[in-house]
Amino acid sequence: MYSGIQLIKKKRDGYQHTKPELDFLISEYTNGNMPDYQMAAWLMAAYLNGMTTDETAFLTEAMMHSGDIIDLSDIPGIKVDKHSTGGVGDKTSLTLGPLVASAGVYVAKMSGRGLGHTGGTLDKLESIPGFKIDMTPKQFKNQVIKHHLAICSQTGQLVPADKKIYALRDVTGTVDNLALIASSIMSKKIACGADAIVIDLKVGDGAFAKTIEEARKLSDLMISTAEKMGKSLVAVVTAMDQPLGLAIGNALEVKEAIDTLQGKGPKDFEELCLALGVEMLLLSKLYDDAEKAEAKLKENLHNGQAYNKFCEMVIAQGGDLDYVENIERYLDTKHTIPFTAKQTGYIQEISAMNLGLAAVSLGAGRETKESDIDHNAGIVLHKKIGIQVETGDPLATIYTNDTSRMDECIKYLQDAFVIGETYIAPLPLILSKFTK
Ligand code: URA
Repeated sequence: MYSGIQLIKKKRDGYQHTKPELDFLISEYTNGNMPDYQMAAWLMAAYLNGMTTDETAFLTEAMMHSGDIIDLSDIPGIKVDKHSTGGVGDKTSLTLGPLVASAGVYVAKMSGRGLGHTGGTLDKLESIPGFKIDMTPKQFKNQVIKHHLAICSQTGQLVPADKKIYALRDVTGTVDNLALIASSIMSKKIACGADAIVIDLKVGDGAFAKTIEEARKLSDLMISTAEKMGKSLVAVVTAMDQPLGLAIGNALEVKEAIDTLQGKGPKDFEELCLALGVEMLLLSKLYDDAEKAEAKLKENLHNGQAYNKFCEMVIAQGGDLDYVENIERYLDTKHTIPFTAKQTGYIQEISAMNLGLAAVSLGAGRETKESDIDHNAGIVLHKKIGIQVETGDPLATIYTNDTSRMDECIKYLQDAFVIGETYIAPLPLILSKFTK
């Protein structure tokens, strides 16, 4: 009915696609009938000429239908998912999932692995010996019904179009386009059964959105796409001008997530979990008042219920509870190396991007999809933006089993910290909230 070349020319010349055209494009590419070079050309045309909100919704729907769809409709209530656009030290799902589940929401979460300078929830969870991330849709649903919480990997059959297209975008300079980002994220969330979505939209160094204005555009597009698909969406815009919390690296982040579930975590990380948690409770309609929702979440961080929910999930997914209960004992690495301040002054910047790359050089993250990772490797910060330091004060500790790339790691750390004479206040963590 259509041809690949026809659709490429239509987008190249700035016209709008219809729903059947985008259905055709996505199904032909997913089935292997359209070669990569044609999809690459179409992606570049869409990147340069943009897409309307209607086209974005059509594309989202076409991608969502490219594979399996998880039906969670027999689980009672509104299923709310959360998605982060990616950051450094972002262990939010590990704490937020159990926290929100402990307040009564059904949390059915499919997560991804880390690539590049950002980490992934699945790699963090796999630091726990025995923890299984692969589940059949039936096992996944049963666990959500029984425990209100499951976090697993995406099955191979879920949104295969996005898998192929994302890999192509990665190598054709077409990742950072709002319509392509929105359709990629939303097609996966909706295919996983979400009725409502909270987006943690990071702004700053290393994030897709560099400014609040860009974040506003992306969230407007996601809100209108969600609306067209009968879903609700709230975007919480948060600062990624420095890493979240103090720990960067898989097992180190699991420890920080556990500490936070016990009310002993870094304040910025706890603040983020509470802010996103409140939005999830409101979207679930279990709460209609933000203050009451926040009070409940705070209570569960301090009365053991949020932590117990995490332990329940670990046991249900085959993980070793002794590891969770005594994580300090398991975090040993051959080397712990202090990184200290080279001058006196105020910390003015801590580049999240450079710290993420430093952690990758220690083996904490992946450079290619096939890379092995060292779960215990990573960095713990001792100071954040706005703190006054003197020469020789510890800024961070490096945990590693492999010192072969230490020069590279130190270089990233040196570039990450900017110390100057004047005090610069850190940005507030929660910058804005966008909803319909
Ligand atoms: N995350 C996704 O899943 N897709 C994008 O396009 C960008 C971020």
